Amino acid sequence: MKKGYSYALDPEELAVRLGFERVARLASNENPWLPSDNVISAGEEALANCNRYPVLGNNRMVGALKDLHGDYTFITSGYGMDGIIDTIVRMIMEKGDKTVISTPAFSMYRITTEAYGGVPISVGRKREDFSVDIQAFIAACQDAKLAFLCSPNNPTGNCTPVDDIIKILESIDCILFLDCAYVEFSDIDYRPLMKEFDNLVIGNTMSKAFALAGMRVGYAFVPEWCEKSYRNAEVPFNMNPVSEAMAVAALNDKTATIRIREHVRAWRKRFMSEVSYRVYPSESNFVLIDVSPYTGDDMAGMLAEKGVVVRSCSSFSGLGDHYIRVNVGEEWECERFIMAINSI
Ligand SMILES: *Cc1c(COP(=O)(O)O)cnc(C)c1O
Repeated sequence: MKKGYSYALDPEELAVRLGFERVARLASNENPWLPSDNVISAGEEALANCNRYPVLGNNRMVGALKDLHGDYTFITSGYGMDGIIDTIVRMIMEKGDKTVISTPAFSMYRITTEAYGGVPISVGRKREDFSVDIQAFIAACQDAKLAFLCSPNNPTGNCTPVDDIIKILESIDCILFLDCAYVEFSDIDYRPLMKEFDNLVIGNTMSKAFALAGMRVGYAFVPEWCEKSYRNAEVPFNMNPVSEAMAVAALNDKTATIRIREHVRAWRKRFMSEVSYRVYPSESNFVLIDVSPYTGDDMAGMLAEKGVVVRSCSSFSGLGDHYIRVNVGEEWECERFIMAINSI
């Protein structure tokens, strides 16, 4: 059996087992807050037409994306960004083709590549600050079909500068999939690169900043040539109308992302200054923490006993076994986490 996705502990099961009224859920980088009432009622209204297939092409969502980002070519997915990764790999990959992955990285790049008979090639990040080894990455791309780079990177939290992405795009022939799941929490903007390069795809999700993880909505900026082949490769009608209606309302809700962004920035700083282990600087809604002399698995286990679910990073290949990843949650969750880890 191939190794699949690692899921977080079930918080409800944990609460029952340990007798906690509530458990701090800091393992999956979700937004701890519900979307606004507008977004919820848009979803409720859309339910009234659930007997119909959705309109082809998700025009309302594409319209809302153009209002927010400008006139780019977009594709949408009702299986989250995971669905986009799946369809892109399916569209491009033939048996034995290589995929280059900047690691440690989100596991879906490898899982999807292997699922379609491709060969994942890892290029390790630099040990000291987890920056991308640009020369090694470019060299590995020479006979590859597709390359994955995540910025801000999950699980390390750091961004790759725009100039480095330009260097990569100028030097490779394959497609670069730039995963921007956490870009709303950073100050970086890769969108203008879409006007200059036709081998760049920028993946986004509404699971994190936009608080719609359970609705499974992803989208991507693609070069124009890619749209038609993508449509041919994808599963039809994959975005349900409830998800689309909520996504449109969330994209139009300008204040919600600002609020979560400020909250995340404030807590990232507090994690850096108050946690008594080494916390890496982050531009996302989570931080990577070196918990030596403990292993990540042991630390995650001890924190769970104290009612805090975090992610052990032992399943991220190329990282080592002594890291955890912790996202910014609600106030009480963050406070409980700091108390708990500092007591260990
Ligand atoms: C969360 C995440 C995604 C995908 O999320 P979806 O919920 O499938 O949209 C993609 N890439 C990274 C790095 C993530 O952390």
